[in-house]
Amino acid sequence: MTIAFPTPDATILARREDILRGLSRLVAPEALIVSEDERRAFETDGLTAYRKLPLAVVLPSTTEEVAAVMRFCHENRVKVVPRGAGTSLAGGAIAQEDAIILCIAKMNRVLAVDFENRTARVEAGITNLAISQAVAHEGFFYAPDPSSQLACTIAGNIAMNSGGAHCLKYGVTTNNLLGVTLVMNDGTVVEIGGEHLDSPGYDLLGLICGSEGQLGVVTEAVVRILRAAEGARPALMGFETVEDAGACVAAIIGAGIIPVAIEYMDRPAINICEAFAHAGYPLDVEAMLIIEVEGSDAECEDMLRRIVEIAKPYRPKTLKVSQSEAESAAIWKGRKSAFGATGRISDYICMDGTIPTGQLPYVLKRIDEIVTAKGLRVANVFHAGDGNLHPLILFDINKPGEMEKAERAGEEILKLCVEVGGCLTGEHGVGIEKRDLMRCQFTEAELQQQMRVRAVFDPGWLLNPAKVFPLEGRVAA
Ligand SMILES: Cc1cc2nc3c(=O)[nH]c(=O)nc-3n(C[C@H](O)[C@H](O)[C@H](O)COP(=O)(O)OP(=O)(O)OC[C@H]3O[C@@H](n4cnc5c(N)ncnc54)[C@H](O)[C@@H]3O)c2cc1C
Repeated sequence: MTIAFPTPDATILARREDILRGLSRLVAPEALIVSEDERRAFETDGLTAYRKLPLAVVLPSTTEEVAAVMRFCHENRVKVVPRGAGTSLAGGAIAQEDAIILCIAKMNRVLAVDFENRTARVEAGITNLAISQAVAHEGFFYAPDPSSQLACTIAGNIAMNSGGAHCLKYGVTTNNLLGVTLVMNDGTVVEIGGEHLDSPGYDLLGLICGSEGQLGVVTEAVVRILRAAEGARPALMGFETVEDAGACVAAIIGAGIIPVAIEYMDRPAINICEAFAHAGYPLDVEAMLIIEVEGSDAECEDMLRRIVEIAKPYRPKTLKVSQSEAESAAIWKGRKSAFGATGRISDYICMDGTIPTGQLPYVLKRIDEIVTAKGLRVANVFHAGDGNLHPLILFDINKPGEMEKAERAGEEILKLCVEVGGCLTGEHGVGIEKRDLMRCQFTEAELQQQMRVRAVFDPGWLLNPAKVFPLEGRVAA
């Protein structure tokens, strides 16, 4: 699956100095990065195996500046890759030598909070966590919680329709987004959605959310904020077999119980995360679930009691309910640091696919077979409640051919997700990583239809161009 990049546009490369001069008239000198050393900081994102130097990086401070840059790039046929914090695991924020990066990270203010109507208007470069921090004093929070929430921006979350551990109950970004300010490819600024629950006309907001920076640049967002529950309690359940843990998840969901989160870790992942977080995870089991419920003490007790009852036929070997805020924090620290903790011990690629929860036991067994057949190891952590898998395929970058083997295993795993009725992406998007697998999920007619929609917004394919759709067979509006 080694990813191909298109040949950069020689005309743009030849006009680089002109383009830089033009951009320098639109933003302050410190908002335009041109030197090779400084551009290096933007050469990759969370998909660090792939690196490309952008033509330049622009860091605007206002929607007007974004609009001016977009107008200029449209007139000069310069490609634009919108960027937030650059944590995309799908290579969504990587730009080539003939494209500028338009990074909105400096636009990070909270503009207005309406507690009565439970909305917040923010600039799109604000981090996910900063939204919750800004409303916490009134007992509110912003629900979608990617593990990268300390760094990733709401703009990136919107572009990738990001999720997180607690999205089982509260939904992903699209379920918590009410409106955006969008700068179109030619610099026109439009408002989509608003401060209310529903909008007249086509659901363009649904189209923008998950469009991976290809339909416009989001500069502001109106998000739903929720009142935090009275309390929350995570429980750890350890199982002797992977199949028992998978079947237990399917049984809980099948019984109609919706905890706030059900997270799964297999033995390798438990060991890696426990060594990092010292969270008290059981080390003598093959798989572990973190199941969090929330509400009053009585509600939590009741729900946990029902969950334990449902789990009995699957013979949990360990059951531990958190007894304090410190314990809960440690349990979540372990899970949320899974990628970083894995990075301490090995190179890895993190896959992201979705399957129907009933298929968990079969898919987990097949993942192990696929990776073992390539002579590699896998650690599985994922949002089991909604079937969003994150197999972390471990390899050694210094061993020739190992990364390619890991990529091939990843490709087989994603194809397996589609085969069992699931989907190529869970929450990380398509980016460059899964671009060439889109034909496994969609027919040619379906892809052409999606590309025609994209081309209406950006007929010249200048916005984040080498992503999402296979490179050949592109259509104009
Ligand atoms: C350790 C780690 C843990 C993670 N955990 C999770 C997780 O639990 N759940 C999850 O969903 N993801 C997770 N991710 C992936 C990543 O954090 C998300 O995809 C996140 O939403 C990206 O946000 P960002 O600000 O870093 O965007 P970037 O990486 O900068 O960009 C991502 C995409 O958004 C587009 N984009 C950026 N800004 C704009 C804009 N203003 N307008 C239009 N498009 C724009 C870019 O072009 C690109 O396609 C994780 C990543 C890491 C490194």
